[in-house]
Amino acid sequence: MIQRPLRAAVLASLASLGLAACSGDTADTDTAVVEAPAAGTAPAPAADAHRQPVTDHVFDSAIRAQDFNAHVQTLASDDFEGRAPGGRGERLTVEYIQGHFERIGLEPGNDGSWVQTVPMVETTAAPDTTFDLVMGSDTRTLAAGSEMVIGTRTGQRSVSVTDSELVFVGYGVNAPEQGWNDYEGLDVEGKTVVIFVNDPGFHIGSEMFEGERMTYYGRWTYKYEEAARQGAAAALIVHDDRGAGYGWSVVENSWTGPQFDLPADVDTAPRLPLQGWISADVARDLFAHAGLDLDEQYERAGQPGFTAVPLDTRLNATVESVIREGESPNVMGLLRGSERPDEVVIYLAHWDHLGRVFGGVGDRIYNGAIDNATGVAAILEIAGQMAAGERPERSVLFLAVTLEESGLLGSAYYVADPVFPLEKTVAAINIDAMLPVGRTTDFTVVGKGNSELEDILEPIAAAQGRVLVPEAAVHAGYYFRSDHFNFAKAGVPALYAKGGTEHVEHGREHVAAIEEDYRTNRYHKPGDEFDPDWDLEGILLDLQALYEVGRTLADSDRWPNWYAGNPFRAAREAMRPE
Ligand SMILES: [Zn+2]
Repeated sequence: MIQRPLRAAVLASLASLGLAACSGDTADTDTAVVEAPAAGTAPAPAADAHRQPVTDHVFDSAIRAQDFNAHVQTLASDDFEGRAPGGRGERLTVEYIQGHFERIGLEPGNDGSWVQTVPMVETTAAPDTTFDLVMGSDTRTLAAGSEMVIGTRTGQRSVSVTDSELVFVGYGVNAPEQGWNDYEGLDVEGKTVVIFVNDPGFHIGSEMFEGERMTYYGRWTYKYEEAARQGAAAALIVHDDRGAGYGWSVVENSWTGPQFDLPADVDTAPRLPLQGWISADVARDLFAHAGLDLDEQYERAGQPGFTAVPLDTRLNATVESVIREGESPNVMGLLRGSERPDEVVIYLAHWDHLGRVFGGVGDRIYNGAIDNATGVAAILEIAGQMAAGERPERSVLFLAVTLEESGLLGSAYYVADPVFPLEKTVAAINIDAMLPVGRTTDFTVVGKGNSELEDILEPIAAAQGRVLVPEAAVHAGYYFRSDHFNFAKAGVPALYAKGGTEHVEHGREHVAAIEEDYRTNRYHKPGDEFDPDWDLEGILLDLQALYEVGRTLADSDRWPNWYAGNPFRAAREAMRPE
């Protein structure tokens, strides 16, 4: 999970192909590039099978600090090699999780199997890619890197877009529940849409689209998805530091090297033939050619009633890519309900992390203790406590997903091919990167204000002496950057809550200092290691609260919905008409 726009591109050994890591966020990144193993030099798998934990720790069925620690210590040990998809670390991790699901007394979660195989496609665009903008008698050739980035997510080796008319579509938003549609009356079939990043009105300080808080419509991923639904041939997002939340170098770095997707026949949502970004300087020239001032257009695009403008320019582009395929498993354990076993509550946490660097000196293993051995430990502890108690009325699925760091692919695959139909899925509770900040007066709900799951959490947190608060960085869109987001997008109410901001004794600075240390020294670095001195008091409260939310849902016949006005509510109502 991401505490700030960052990415480590770490190459692991997914059936000898490299995997880059991006916390589900390929443009929000910086770089920590790690070499891939030369062919044939990946370490041989060890013959020993760690079916049971490597420690001789005896686990209690209740949620316990020492049990949580034992899980994290093992999963984040050097032996597990940073839990990269595809290698020895994957095998040990999958065996560990399955072994504990068995110990706890769960049944295989995927129709008799403990695993669900997730296929993926890796696409690497040729580094010397260029494209042409034909502006009247002038042709401007842009090189990938300093002025633009471009790629395809179709899985096709060669994609061309020729003589495609550029149209400026403002923020590229179609939000029926807000009465806003930048594509109103527009046919962009075969055209190239040019789009501002962030929400409508962001650049002029408007309170529309929840003001400073980034909504789903502000995400660059949304803009490509909407452009694809509209039938565009290509989409180019206009970069600006403030709107994106990061500089051009972050865009450039994250679009260099492999990108990861589910195969197009698995995730059948429309995809753009080509998608990319252009720099602010290029955009200024492009708009000037059409007689438009870029700053004035930020003003116009933030006003209700904005209409699209042709830019009197055409795109010619061909992108050649190297395509490779791989796979990695989700691990699934089921506690079958006693009364309504066909209805399910899901707990999920990603087991994968960035793996290791081959060669070099020093600590080359990305242990991923916080990110996300803590989440895996959490769902194991919650599963143990749930299974030891009275059987819940609804089923509860414990889902340890893979390929989160490659773009939330394991959870996307589960949602595309769910074991329980999504209309029978009550809620998804995601746990990603629990920071040991100690006991707090509050409980952070990332994306607070989304769904009625918060109404269930609130009294549970209150009984712990904690109030619910939103995440501090509401502009950063963290709700859209971990695995629950795939459930949300499909309409299933999803909760992402963890930690707090104010320590009961040591105040805010104490928590802020731990967060800063994590961001600076550990996040997506080899320094994300287990520490036996962690203060787990807050994490234990989080686990107990999230256990109680799931238990409450599993023993009720309630169907919590998204709050009115939420962009995901329409999808839920379409699948569950009341
Ligand atoms: Zn994570």
